[in-house]
Amino acid sequence: MLKRISTNQTKTMLLLMLVFTVVILLFSALVYFSIVNFSHQRFYELLKIRATTIVQIEKGKEHLDIPANHILNSTNDEELPMEKDYVFEVPRDSNYSQITSQIHIPDTFFKNIIKKGEDNYNDQEFYYIGQSFKSDDKTYIAIASAKNHYVVDYLGYLKRTLVTCMVLAIFFSMIFSFYLSKTLFKPILKITGKVKEISSENLHLRLEPQPGNTELNELIDTFNDMLNRIETSFETQNHLIGNVSHELRTPLTSIMGEADVALSQKRSEAHYQETLQIILDEAEKLDKKIKALLMIAQTGFDGKIQKMDKVRMDQLLWDVIETAKRINSKNNVYLDISMLPDNPKKLKVQGNEQLLHLAMANIINNGCKYSNFQQVKVSLGATDDHVYIIIKDHGIGIPDSEMDKIYDPFYRASNTKNYEGYGIGLPLARNIVRIHNGELIVNSKENVGTTVQIRFPIYVPTE
Ligand code: ADP
Repeated sequence: MLKRISTNQTKTMLLLMLVFTVVILLFSALVYFSIVNFSHQRFYELLKIRATTIVQIEKGKEHLDIPANHILNSTNDEELPMEKDYVFEVPRDSNYSQITSQIHIPDTFFKNIIKKGEDNYNDQEFYYIGQSFKSDDKTYIAIASAKNHYVVDYLGYLKRTLVTCMVLAIFFSMIFSFYLSKTLFKPILKITGKVKEISSENLHLRLEPQPGNTELNELIDTFNDMLNRIETSFETQNHLIGNVSHELRTPLTSIMGEADVALSQKRSEAHYQETLQIILDEAEKLDKKIKALLMIAQTGFDGKIQKMDKVRMDQLLWDVIETAKRINSKNNVYLDISMLPDNPKKLKVQGNEQLLHLAMANIINNGCKYSNFQQVKVSLGATDDHVYIIIKDHGIGIPDSEMDKIYDPFYRASNTKNYEGYGIGLPLARNIVRIHNGELIVNSKENVGTTVQIRFPIYVPTE
């Protein structure tokens, strides 16, 4: 992890440097080329003024007597560096070879001047502007040329300055990127170190929020939340193991005790029979508890339900109530259908019928048992997306302080001494509801009664 972070740190640093370098390069190139462009334009403008002046002067002369293929070196004052101006007559055959041998400019330049009236040209340092004009029915070309000292001197200087600035900027961006990436990853490295300290022995440790780092604090909060859940489930597991071993040992101790006593001396047949009956009863209890435990394990969070079907909750509840009455005629359950929706399709749930039956039966039987067989009201209703079942009794209720423990397997509230039970039905029912993406909430008041609310998402057919 540390290695990974440090490679990420290097990557971030390189990326930042790359971005900085590209920006600096682009910026320098932009500055350089816009100044080059400006200097070209500016110099051509100056040359153009010179060329126009030459044309005006030459046109003003009464007779322009320049022999063919002869170049008149204009005698203007030298206003631009190394300025040279030329005037010559355009050869009738358009053969400029004589001219080009004297001023080393390609003849396309002259042809363009004739075609467009004006053109410009430059080699490395020298810039030329030519204009054509007529005098005494003859066509002449006047050219003004000079050395562009901006390009030679100033742009060279600019180039050196920009390169120096670039090197310096890249160097500083390197230092800055290194510092920035280090600062960015520092809190992560700190958190990694802290996380490494956390193990099953010190699950109470939590990560401290980093001041002013919202994104990271969100991660820290999420991680701390996860630790809370892990710690709780760890404690529950420990608690569960304690409870389970105690619950399983009780019948086992009875069996061993009974057998021990019976074997300690010769007994009558009736005594043996009685002992065996007790052993059988205790063994059955053990069997029931182990089966229930297995069921809880199977319906745990990662439990997979074998068979999922469309289940109509009203039919299922009728069935559960009928079975409850058959098993114990004292069970008094009333199904309130006043909230039933018009459309029975809204009562369909995607689920495993046997598991749902088991969950509902556990809760309804609890209602009957803990209310000493007073009437238990089961209400069924539905909205557009959920089916609701409310089971209400007027029994002994659950003491407030024990409400959060009733979902622990084998936990039985302190007021249930006179009632038979193992403390497995409710956690099992909640697991079953949860694997059907539902929710089970218990509200209870001691000596007043208990209400269990269950909600399932309704069945949505998939095309
Ligand atoms: P039990 O076999 O003890 O009934 P359950 O797992 O079904 O176990 O329920 C766990 C505990 O929750 C019970 O021991 C009891 O304390 C409490 N409880 C559940 N349902 C009711 C209820 N309807 N009225 C009062 N207490 C209840």
